Amino acid sequence: MRVAKPLLASMAMCVLLACPAHAELDAARLKQTIETSFESDYPKLDALYKDIHAHPEIAFQEEKTAAKLAAEMRALGFEVTEKVGKTGLVAIYKNGAGPTIMVRTELDALPMEEKTGLAYASHDKAIWRGRETFVTHSCGHDIHMASWVGTAKTLLALKDQWHGTLMFIAQPAEEEVAGAKAMLEDGLFTRFPKPDVGFALHDGAFTHGYVSYRVGIGSSTVNGLLIKFRGRGGHGSAPQTTIDPVMMASRFVVDVQSVISREKDPTEFGVISIGAIHSGTAGNIIPDDALVVGTIRSFKPQVRDKMLAGIERTAKAVAAMADAPAPEIELGEGAKAVMNDPAVVGSAEKVLKAAFGDKFNATPPGTASEDYSEYVSAGVPSMFFNIGVYDPERVAAARNGGPPLPGNHSPLFAPVPKPTIQTGVTAMTLAVLSAFDQRAKGQ
Ligand SMILES: [Zn+2]
Ligand SMILES: [Zn+2]
Repeated sequence: MRVAKPLLASMAMCVLLACPAHAELDAARLKQTIETSFESDYPKLDALYKDIHAHPEIAFQEEKTAAKLAAEMRALGFEVTEKVGKTGLVAIYKNGAGPTIMVRTELDALPMEEKTGLAYASHDKAIWRGRETFVTHSCGHDIHMASWVGTAKTLLALKDQWHGTLMFIAQPAEEEVAGAKAMLEDGLFTRFPKPDVGFALHDGAFTHGYVSYRVGIGSSTVNGLLIKFRGRGGHGSAPQTTIDPVMMASRFVVDVQSVISREKDPTEFGVISIGAIHSGTAGNIIPDDALVVGTIRSFKPQVRDKMLAGIERTAKAVAAMADAPAPEIELGEGAKAVMNDPAVVGSAEKVLKAAFGDKFNATPPGTASEDYSEYVSAGVPSMFFNIGVYDPERVAAARNGGPPLPGNHSPLFAPVPKPTIQTGVTAMTLAVLSAFDQRAKGQ
């Protein structure tokens, strides 16, 4: 770690004493310092990233992944507790009196096959919900983990810059919208200090080196959709003797979109997507039932309630039209929208803007969902932001009608590791320093 000592020492004093003449963090110089340190840390982070990418683990099975992170954090001097919320871990580093700042990464990958063709692509499989499936880090949680370890290293190298406690948590099962809850129920904020401020980042299909953020709503509310249409099976040649659940499921998938186009206010955000239909075995057998599985996204509770009512009515109407029994309907609530805290964003914004310039931008709320909202609901003022993953040339080509950019959850999602992780480490380190600085000044 090469650090401009006199500069850092004087800034550390200012953080402590809040000296008005030098009260602001020198973000541009700090960014440079972080990037120099990152350069020497990177070979290890690259190896860690590629190892985690090649050997992903699915929700609540992330034992080896968690063990790798635990080893990294112990080597840095963090006190690590494993198996918090099944496979989660909590790493604490105390550096004098001061606030507790939390940084969260996810641990889990997705049940799908990777098709990137990368040298370090995953070929691993796991048993998930009773079936064997490929597993892939196609949401980029491996980028988050490498950035998380890199941020911890950088903050320790800069420990004369801040005083207080770092609380680095690695959370299982984000994709299941269950891991944050599991950690909280396992005493995350009672067995360990409750953080004064929290941060998390997510990667996305835009240019690496860029950071996007928002004040207020940072992600959507998610509700699961699980509808079982109950029919009466029989021979495909004699449909008059059956009640065809495949017909009901098909009609529902089409008709439910009219809830979006005709019932929901068109100026409000709301999405229904059906991701899976399970029914039947052979072409000449009309099955007994059909299961439709989907996801419902919204920002506002009143929009969500309207959508849920419309979905339920459509499912019941489809069954009534077929003279079938009422369907089984589950529209369970998953994550709520992440609300970014204006004061936390306010202080991080100044530092990140000074460091990243026009590569740091406010954007409209993201339509993805995040169970990070559980920590916000538990009372941790937070900032959730996004980092880009693709080369600028590739992004420009996509904008000009070239091949589209594979997004998160695509089998082709392939972040460019080094610049992406560098942005993650730099932005997260600066955000954490801004929070220590803000609290030291009593804001
Ligand atoms: Zn995801
Ligand atoms: Zn994700």
